[in-house]
Amino acid sequence: MRRLPIYFLVDVSESMVGEPIEQVQNGMRTIIQELRVDPYALETAFVSVIAFAGKAKSISPLTELYKFYPPVFPIGGGTSLGAALEFLMDDMDRSLQKTTVDMKGDWKPIVFLFTDGTPTDDTTKTFARWNAKYRKACNLVAISIGDNVNTYILGQISDNVLLLKDTDAESFSKFFKWVTASIKATSVSVTDYSNDDVQLAPTSGINLEKVDTSKSVKIDENFAVVLGKCQTTDKQYLIKYSKKLRSSQLSILDGFSVKEFGLVGAYPIDEKSYSELSADGQSNVHVYTSELRGCPACPCCGNQLGFVVCECGNIFCAGDNSNSHCPWCGMEGELSSIEGGGIEVNRTRG
Ligand SMILES: [Zn+2]
Ligand SMILES: [Zn+2]
Repeated sequence: MRRLPIYFLVDVSESMVGEPIEQVQNGMRTIIQELRVDPYALETAFVSVIAFAGKAKSISPLTELYKFYPPVFPIGGGTSLGAALEFLMDDMDRSLQKTTVDMKGDWKPIVFLFTDGTPTDDTTKTFARWNAKYRKACNLVAISIGDNVNTYILGQISDNVLLLKDTDAESFSKFFKWVTASIKATSVSVTDYSNDDVQLAPTSGINLEKVDTSKSVKIDENFAVVLGKCQTTDKQYLIKYSKKLRSSQLSILDGFSVKEFGLVGAYPIDEKSYSELSADGQSNVHVYTSELRGCPACPCCGNQLGFVVCECGNIFCAGDNSNSHCPWCGMEGELSSIEGGGIEVNRTRG
């Protein structure tokens, strides 16, 4: 039997924390459930999941559908698309059955790349390797989740670049139905017609559109994500803000607007997988606390203040006690409100 390998290359950078990663997790479960009752897919499809942030990691090796268990996704810092593609190519070299004189190998694999950000690593060498040897031998479908991705970059590795504009639950659910339908159609195509070009389902009724990748796009950061540490439990969490533009009341100053980030939520993270998946070294991207609006409660211990900035530049949680100690640097101190804002903190990557 010839396998139809399906890879999911999933961006798990910090901006995916919270609802987006939950939607992807639910979506993966739906895809598998639906494919399992499809006779064509059940016969041919094998699924593999690779997660990437600053680094890439195999979440599930190439597995037949009835044995596949929908994964739980970790979160990491950074969006190293180069590292992810490198990881994928190495995995393909190891896992795929090549055609020999005695045996037909696997069908052309389908790769679904889900990403919500622009690469933070140098992709030049990797893209050259991909385009020289793998691009024609694979069906790469690159999907930008939200409009925070420079799709011009995705166009350098794929002819199928699509943009999922809205990222609410309904849009995600329709999108994953589309992924499922595309896999089903391709299973039929390989089985009945020996044609292993990807058969993408129609996108009508979905907020999914093919992107013209010939032009470079200017990207504004849509999210600011900062790392905090719980004073009570020593556990780490991410605080996510999303951008909203506030036009100045002084509208005579043409084009003048102030950048503000509104609170989305605070989420505990698994520290081990977070550091495993994060790029090495400190981030050099900065965010000004004066741009951030809203303070979450600590998602680890429930303390009222989830966003206290220490002199060391790190963020931790504090409760009613007037005396606090910073779980990052150990400094003891009294809490006082920050005057005038403008205190610089190190922003996490991705
Ligand atoms: Zn706490
Ligand atoms: Zn400190």
